[in-house]
Amino acid sequence: MSADTDYFHEEYENDGALVVFRCTECGRHSLSLGSLHAHIEGHRGYTRLGIQVPFTRTAPGRFGELMARTTVLRVDTLSEMPLSEVEGL
Ligand SMILES: [Zn+2]
Repeated sequence: MSADTDYFHEEYENDGALVVFRCTECGRHSLSLGSLHAHIEGHRGYTRLGIQVPFTRTAPGRFGELMARTTVLRVDTLSEMPLSEVEGL
């Protein structure tokens, strides 16, 4: 993460190119590894009692288990688009 970015804004780069992360379960993309991992946690199954089944018995949020469900992508191609079509703005 570059030093000049906002503390709460998560963004990574590789040799000047943006890095994004993709959920292997559903294909969702995010600039934020933390946000994507929170999303991946939601793919866990639920028991009849409504309890999430953890990836492991002792450490439900293990980084390795989350990274196994994360694809790391470098953004090599950029295409210009109108501001009005940016979702969420
Ligand atoms: Zn997903």
